[in-house]
Amino acid sequence: MLRIAFDNTFARLPDAFYARISPNPVSAPKLVALNETLALELGLDVAQLQSRSGIAVLSGSAVPEGAEPLAQAYAGHQFGGFSPQLGDGRAMLLGEVVDTNGVRQDIQLKGSGRTPYSRGGDGRAWLGPVLREYVISEAMAAMGIPTTRALAAVTTGQDVMRESALPGAVLTRIASSHIRVGSFQYFAARRDLASLEILTDYTITRHYPDADGPMGLFAAVVAAQAKLIVRWMGVGFIHGVMNTDNTHVGGITIDYGPCAFMDSYHPARLYSSIDRNGRYAFSQQPEIIVWNLAQLATSLIALMGADTDASVKGATEVLHGFADLYHGAWLEQFRAKLGLKLARSGDAALINDLLERMAAQQADFTNTFRALADGNAREQFADPAVFDDWNSRWQARLAQEGSTLEAQQTLIRKTSPALIPRNHRVEEMIEAAVAGDYGPFERLNAALANPFEDAVEYDDLRRPPTEEEEVTQTFCGT
Ligand code: AMP
Ligand code: MG
Repeated sequence: MLRIAFDNTFARLPDAFYARISPNPVSAPKLVALNETLALELGLDVAQLQSRSGIAVLSGSAVPEGAEPLAQAYAGHQFGGFSPQLGDGRAMLLGEVVDTNGVRQDIQLKGSGRTPYSRGGDGRAWLGPVLREYVISEAMAAMGIPTTRALAAVTTGQDVMRESALPGAVLTRIASSHIRVGSFQYFAARRDLASLEILTDYTITRHYPDADGPMGLFAAVVAAQAKLIVRWMGVGFIHGVMNTDNTHVGGITIDYGPCAFMDSYHPARLYSSIDRNGRYAFSQQPEIIVWNLAQLATSLIALMGADTDASVKGATEVLHGFADLYHGAWLEQFRAKLGLKLARSGDAALINDLLERMAAQQADFTNTFRALADGNAREQFADPAVFDDWNSRWQARLAQEGSTLEAQQTLIRKTSPALIPRNHRVEEMIEAAVAGDYGPFERLNAALANPFEDAVEYDDLRRPPTEEEEVTQTFCGT
């Protein structure tokens, strides 16, 4: 029997927060991936998870003792348009555990069947997006970027119908909560202030115990999101669908759909097939998060006191503070990517100049920054002279540091991964898995567990795609 020491708090909240649901059994569940390290961190028994009863739970076919399965209610702005009723349409929160670090974690199944919030959808997921999320979210975690995690992937033995019949799968997602900006919008849109207040208190307790009231919560979310987006920008990550329902109030990356890591750098880079206007393109991310945070502020205003004008003014000031928080963290990160520890006034210009040259030359984002530590970055430029010109100024700036070359290289290698889940490798991995070969999935996971290491056996994974290999569009998980 699979035993999990559930300690559920979300299920204690009022009925308005969720719909209780029951398992949707699948015909032939099969475990295809189990994150043993994460299982241990969660205090779960690996052998139990691998057992028949474990797999029944991981496929959404059975509910373990102590679980209180539910689908959370939330709303959200999708591509700017407001949907008052979204919610977990294909996910089931089993419950919470307190992990070995003392952090409360949700155990949630994704792709586990219909819920009252499924609308027209089948509540299912196919193997491709499940493995995509597994690999990419775990790579993000290995890079130290706040994110949901992947505990397991199970195939269901049942096809799901998309453009064609595809193998169904369920992902077990672990998260410090699943509270989104859209969770607040849900109650605000209904003018359900009592629930809004309960959600505010719950979120403060769970994520920001030091925050003082709704304004304190808002300020904490703004700060956390500023830090998060800077991390994305530092590794060339494009979320792809930054709707408010996919914006986590705890400041972690959530809902890996048509996301992608850039190969060659361009600020306007965009992969998502559903993002026709480039709303969520790479360089838009810091702008759009401010827009999303403004929606959170709007939702919280009613709780901020009787003087609405004063609340709006206060929240606006907090939101305006985003720019400084973001730019400060961005500068610090990109300085480190150039091996710089000290702050000098020309640093932003130096960094931006490099980025502009990279964009003009279609230099590979990951390999160029990494090569700065190896002394061969000029090879990343179609015209190496474009780099040389910048390099002389960089060298002069490095000379002001008074640090050793070795220290500079270490700093660069700590902030610029050697390995990212490149799109063409992710697609190749999915194709193999659908054909029954999980070798590429396992290899990709093993490689990405240590993204900051130079490992010769993974050199092929560092190579950018050839023109034929390049994946220019990614699709959402539905
Ligand atoms: P996303 O933008 O992918 O995070 O999803 C937006 C909304 O659509 C959420 O409410 C999801 O639960 C819902 N959704 C996505 N895919 C499905 C599906 N296959 N069946 C039911 N609901 C879905
Ligand atoms: Mg979502």
